[in-house]
Amino acid sequence: MNVRVRFAPSPTGFLHIGSVRTALFNWLYARHTGGTFVLRIEDTDTARNTEQSLRTILDGLAWLGLTHDEGPYFQSQRAAIYRQRVKQLVDAGMAYEREGAIRFKMTREPIVMNDLIAGKVTRELGDREVNDPDFVIVRSDGNPVFHFVNVVDDLEMKITHVIRGEDHLSNTPKHIALFRAFGVEPPKYAHIPMILNKDGTKMSKSDPDPVKARLASLTGYIEDGYLPEAVRNYLCLLGWSPKDDRQVLPIEEVIQKFDLPQVLRSNAKFDAAKLEWMNGQYINRLTGEELDRRVTGIPGADVAYRRRVLELLKSKVTLLKQFPERTKYFFTDDFPVEPVDAALLGKLADRYACVPTWDAASLEAGLKALATELGVKTGQLIHPCRMAVSGQTVGPSLYHMLEVLGRDRVLARLRKT
Ligand code: GLU
Repeated sequence: MNVRVRFAPSPTGFLHIGSVRTALFNWLYARHTGGTFVLRIEDTDTARNTEQSLRTILDGLAWLGLTHDEGPYFQSQRAAIYRQRVKQLVDAGMAYEREGAIRFKMTREPIVMNDLIAGKVTRELGDREVNDPDFVIVRSDGNPVFHFVNVVDDLEMKITHVIRGEDHLSNTPKHIALFRAFGVEPPKYAHIPMILNKDGTKMSKSDPDPVKARLASLTGYIEDGYLPEAVRNYLCLLGWSPKDDRQVLPIEEVIQKFDLPQVLRSNAKFDAAKLEWMNGQYINRLTGEELDRRVTGIPGADVAYRRRVLELLKSKVTLLKQFPERTKYFFTDDFPVEPVDAALLGKLADRYACVPTWDAASLEAGLKALATELGVKTGQLIHPCRMAVSGQTVGPSLYHMLEVLGRDRVLARLRKT
């Protein structure tokens, strides 16, 4: 079978992290099966549908590398198709008008769904619906409703697998009934469980807690200096796993192993600390050159120097946005320094003035030899030296830092104190 899946977001002004994960699982399934990933914009709610909303969706998907093969289709441009499909149902006696609205004659039989993730779900008519299970498909203002356009599009676009959030599970009986009314076998359904905050609450952009609110939409991650490949990797693991303990996984391997029946049936908990850890892992894998292309806000025209600085700091950083702050002292002499023993550092400067090669190993040997000669512990030189050259008490390996800073900066800073 030629698999055809779709991501069908409604443009609401932001891209919810749960929607991103839905898009990702559709994309993974399409790539795993060699199928087609369709992008469809469900923009029938004209009040909320802005150009900016659309950009947010397209930019977010592009940022994550979730490329679509077809579309974007826009529901706002498909009114004629919907009208023709309404007529088809009315002509067949499957839909009728009442009080200006068109209603669909819903089946009175229970509907059984064999969901690829949720399993077998049987939907009986509820008390309220026993007498009147029919539902509106075209409102009295002439606009078709979500259920209708969603089904017509899945049908017209020959979607084989509907992979979407579990919040849509309760809509699916209506959708299946509509497919059958059109005489078409419904697609296979796979409802993926929700992603919740760590405390079990819904992830929402309007959460009163600003930290939680920020976690809910993709924009925050882009702004905070997450790497798209880290976010994508983390989202793969929300509800799916390679069946071993590995966390950092090449996307090619996920594509190869991903399948729908393995997706967990329970809700996934979003662990922001784990995502940040994972981002650090991905940052650490990039070269100084690659980092220099991605990090903004680092001053200095010397590209080679900038790359070496980024390379040196990368293992200490978990977000790209931390780089400018943490690398400041590489680009300026203007930083506060706590008082240190100037005489001792003067001796270290004299020693460093004559090291034959300015590299970490020679600098380490030089400092250690001086400590022995002076009868002091190496720490008595290391700590004030770090303070004098960086204004910090912690940081990257001292000797590597000195090597990158270079002889001129180091000697000037040691002698300045
Ligand atoms: N526009 C719907 C949503 O964003 C699509 C639901 C579906 O995937 O069928 O929730």
